[in-house]
Amino acid sequence: DYQAHMRNFSIVAHIDHGKSTIADRILELTDTVAERDMKQQLLDNMDLERERGITIKLNSVELKYTAQDGEEYTFHLIDTPGHVDFTYEVSRSLAACEGALLVVDAAQGVEAQTLANTYLALDNDLEILPVLNKIDLPSADPEMVKEEIEDMIGIDATEAVLVSGKTGFGIEELLERIVTDIPAPTGDINGPLQALIFDSIYDSYRGVVLSVRLKTGRVKVGDEIQIMSTGKKFEVTEVGVQSPKPVAKKELIAGDVGYITANIKSVRETHVGDTITSPANPAPAALPGYRQIKPMVYAGLYPVDNGKFNDLREALEKLQLNDAALEFEPETSQALGFGFRCGFLGLLHMDVVQERLEREFNLDLIMTAPSVDYHATLTDGSERMISNPAEMPEVGQLKEIKEPFVKAEIMVPEEYVGSVMELCQRKRGVFQTMDYLDKYRVNVVYEMPLSEIIFDFFDDLKSNTKGYASLDYDIIGYRASDLVKIDILLNKEPVDALSFIVHREFSAERGREIASMMKNIIPRQNFEVAVQAAIGAKVIARTTIKAYRKDVTARIHTGDPDRRAKLLDKQKRGKKRMKSVGKVEVPQEAFMAVLKMN
Ligand code: GDP
Ligand code: MG
Repeated sequence: DYQAHMRNFSIVAHIDHGKSTIADRILELTDTVAERDMKQQLLDNMDLERERGITIKLNSVELKYTAQDGEEYTFHLIDTPGHVDFTYEVSRSLAACEGALLVVDAAQGVEAQTLANTYLALDNDLEILPVLNKIDLPSADPEMVKEEIEDMIGIDATEAVLVSGKTGFGIEELLERIVTDIPAPTGDINGPLQALIFDSIYDSYRGVVLSVRLKTGRVKVGDEIQIMSTGKKFEVTEVGVQSPKPVAKKELIAGDVGYITANIKSVRETHVGDTITSPANPAPAALPGYRQIKPMVYAGLYPVDNGKFNDLREALEKLQLNDAALEFEPETSQALGFGFRCGFLGLLHMDVVQERLEREFNLDLIMTAPSVDYHATLTDGSERMISNPAEMPEVGQLKEIKEPFVKAEIMVPEEYVGSVMELCQRKRGVFQTMDYLDKYRVNVVYEMPLSEIIFDFFDDLKSNTKGYASLDYDIIGYRASDLVKIDILLNKEPVDALSFIVHREFSAERGREIASMMKNIIPRQNFEVAVQAAIGAKVIARTTIKAYRKDVTARIHTGDPDRRAKLLDKQKRGKKRMKSVGKVEVPQEAFMAVLKMN
């Protein structure tokens, strides 16, 4: 029967080990995509993904494969991102599957996210099929990587499939192994409808489009469905699968991975992780759903145009449907007006959210300096969480402040261990352990403040190790630290959105650095601007931005109207990302300057 011929699997791996490329070869070999429509990393269909060459969103696709046994199988393949900021996408994908292809670059070996993603797959009780990719590379060493997989992950890798996403070698064998090694779904087709919402997106015509995995039962157009967490009922208007474009179907049955639309117009009616059932024959219980994740970094988001506050709220709500890790709540800034404090899983996530809001919802935004959340105990004994540096209590009121700490695992070839340790030490890291993974590679473990990891650690780590180090981290708790808030004043007025929190040891240096950066970032105005960095009432650094009197175009020859127009146009565009703070025009980069400090 049909269900016994279904195979649902995710592809998981460390970033750049070749998930999306292997997915391409599978789509080609199964003729899911016509040759003329084929392009590299086809499932990375967001512009942002294509520009950056990374997968940001999970993406499911249905394909048909006629196996060597002569039978036709239906595969639901879910490609997932590899970057640590998008682990939540991976964990949601896995809950829709019975198996996972664990792709490991045969030249690089097991990396930090290989491990992290394998643990997620094991948590979901998935059958794991190890796949060694890039065996076309002269530096590929499949035997050693097999050993690594066995030693570090503890799964049998003797039967690992050797493939090359680049040349297509081994892909046919991989498809056979998916048939033989990954179990078919088993949910009762005639049972009550029970479907997990693992993703969703807002479509202005169809309303909310739900990505679902049916565990039991069936669903078709015209059926009444109910969202178990809210009790809300809807009539199904369309069901189908991505192949990879949406293809409407008559019905989805237990085991299927597809989509449902039901004229759901309000974004608050459903949440990723909810269970769908049928009010006529309800499921006994909701599916486990997903654990709520906590943001790692917070930043303020403000519309450049204050009148767009409600547009921003609506955009955030719609984006949240497609990005369940995004959190936000309204906040006000003296400098920037009304906006939102948003929580992200990391800086890449933060960057992606800002870009998606601007592109998909046509907004111009200012984002303030990112910050982790701190726990403050005041002298009166009360406690408070601080995710906005501007809210740090005054020096005299603060008894103790704690910051999040992480356990950081860094995998690196042994020749770079010295420079990795030096870097960790500089970032207030506390050494824990060091173990050899194999003959050449070492796993170095440090406990470090999250704030030091989030900011520029990863870039520094990469540049100190020629790109060979990989990193994974987990929050281990809050620890007291000697932290201070640095305020930035423009013409004696503190700009709340520019405040940031640092360790006292670095405060003088960072104060000077930020003041001189502001001088370069904030353009000259037609009056002088004094920039000061201060801790409480104490000014620790100052610079001056000289006045700029002349019209920029004044010096340009009037006989060259083209150039003049271009220049004015350029100025205008540059303005879009400027915010008037008092009388001073402050560009977006000023708010991000803390990220550029050494
Ligand atoms: P993902 O991040 O895991 O999705 O990785 P991608 O599929 O985007 O691939 C990362 C990079 O590795 C791209 O530049 C690919 O062209 C390259 N790549 C993928 N598979 C192979 C392979 O089998 N051999 C070689 N030589 N390069 C590959
Ligand atoms: Mg990818």
